[in-house]
Amino acid sequence: MIVILKKNPEEKQLQNLMAWLKSLNITIHPSEGETHKVLGLVGDTSVVDIDLLRALDIVEDVKRVQEPYKNANRKFHEQDTVIPVGQTTVGGGSFSVIAGPCSIESEEQVCLIATAVKACGATMLRGGAFKPRTSPYAFQGLRDRGLTLLLEAKKLTGLPVVTEIMDLSQLSLFDEVDVIQVGARNMQNFELLKELGHTGKPILIKRGLANTLQELLMSAEYVMAGGNDRVILCERGIRTFETATRNTLDLSAVPMLKRMSHLPVIVDPSHATGLSWMVKPMALAATAAGADGLMIEVHNDPKRALCDGAQSITPEAFRDVMRGVNAILPHAYRPEKEAHA
Ligand code: PEP
Ligand code: MN
Repeated sequence: MIVILKKNPEEKQLQNLMAWLKSLNITIHPSEGETHKVLGLVGDTSVVDIDLLRALDIVEDVKRVQEPYKNANRKFHEQDTVIPVGQTTVGGGSFSVIAGPCSIESEEQVCLIATAVKACGATMLRGGAFKPRTSPYAFQGLRDRGLTLLLEAKKLTGLPVVTEIMDLSQLSLFDEVDVIQVGARNMQNFELLKELGHTGKPILIKRGLANTLQELLMSAEYVMAGGNDRVILCERGIRTFETATRNTLDLSAVPMLKRMSHLPVIVDPSHATGLSWMVKPMALAATAAGADGLMIEVHNDPKRALCDGAQSITPEAFRDVMRGVNAILPHAYRPEKEAHA
């Protein structure tokens, strides 16, 4: 439930209102809007007499919130969330580019790619150490050793690193990881999300293969309910009846998620399409649609990649994508610039 207060509410009456709501076991999240102060009420609001509330002198309006996500909801938090990561920030107007191999394969490989993507303007390095593979016989990642190599590349380039956690038992290995990724297959691993809510680390949550935007936001809510509000959302394609591409990139998720939530939204055109030649057009389209960033798989020798070679682009191709992205960025869709939003 949301209570919109009249302009400049009388302080005594406001205190009385807050005390009454608290006595009903309601948690109050106040926020300052452009013109009005707003109170987000969390808890069992069914005990609140909405007519009584609406009738109060200092109350302009009361709205029932249908959405079950509160912390992630833009209605409670008008401003974009900005997440500091190393020397860079994610969200709130910065454009983040997370690039690197699908999997860390060797020190030479990850360091070479890290150096190359940094030179092209990547702001973060990605690389999987624990790989969620459909087949148990496929390369499972270098695991602990992979994380060590990723941290070597971080030391070498200064780029913050993003890597996937698959299980809670791995958490102690992630101390020096800058952003912990929750993969599409783990988007609804609620115990994992709850625990990540107790870390102070930014958490990048990828949309599940068959999950709605509301479900993605509910997963973000799990992390945020634990006290960690540093969540980055990632659209990476969903499963549809189409088979020409690995997944179907739902670009409409970008403006929609940004309307529903204040959290940064990035797009992964690599897993979305599964095809290296489609990474550029989809990266450009995602940028134009108003994404806060991209996650792109880059490999120095895609044909010999141990995982996802078909969708990995070379550092040269990545340079070309970056050129295109930078050309589009000034023209990207920004809801606040729209006259008729
Ligand atoms: C990945 O980013 O390496 C990955 C496995 O992606 P997803 O969870 O989106 O399939
Ligand atoms: Mn991959």
